[in-house]
Amino acid sequence: MITRKLYLYFPKSETEKPIVYQLVKDFNLIINIFRAKVTPQEEGYLLLEVSGEEQDFEDAVRYLQSFNVEINKGIKGFVWHEDKCVSCGNCLTHCPTNALHISDLNTRKVMHDETRCIECMACLTHCPFGACSSLF
Ligand code: SF4
Ligand code: SF4
Repeated sequence: MITRKLYLYFPKSETEKPIVYQLVKDFNLIINIFRAKVTPQEEGYLLLEVSGEEQDFEDAVRYLQSFNVEINKGIKGFVWHEDKCVSCGNCLTHCPTNALHISDLNTRKVMHDETRCIECMACLTHCPFGACSSLF
């Protein structure tokens, strides 16, 4: 069993396709939708966490590649801007995984640990300084 993040970009022509449904039904994958912005007749984006057998995952990627859908298996939808962070701490209680954490108890400096980030985007609305942003 593997778990991977999939970032999908749909051009206008592909937004009506029931892709998530097919990934579940035809490839036995477990899908967790982290972020979605798919508007019929416009472009769309999906950030998914996909779990399942490696062969099923690879078959599903091949299936997606048969459409006009751009796939990036590793891209991060969440973007951390360390230069904008003033370590105010406002985000800390809203980050469910402690990806945003105090890295030094003396300086109280806040840092982002991308290995812990599940890209839930909960921090975006709680950062007044624009240090947390999303690709879409
Ligand atoms: S996106 Fe979610 S997990 Fe990642 S830093 Fe923000 S609140 Fe934490
Ligand atoms: S809310 Fe923004 S500026 Fe404040 S600690 Fe969190 S990331 Fe840094």
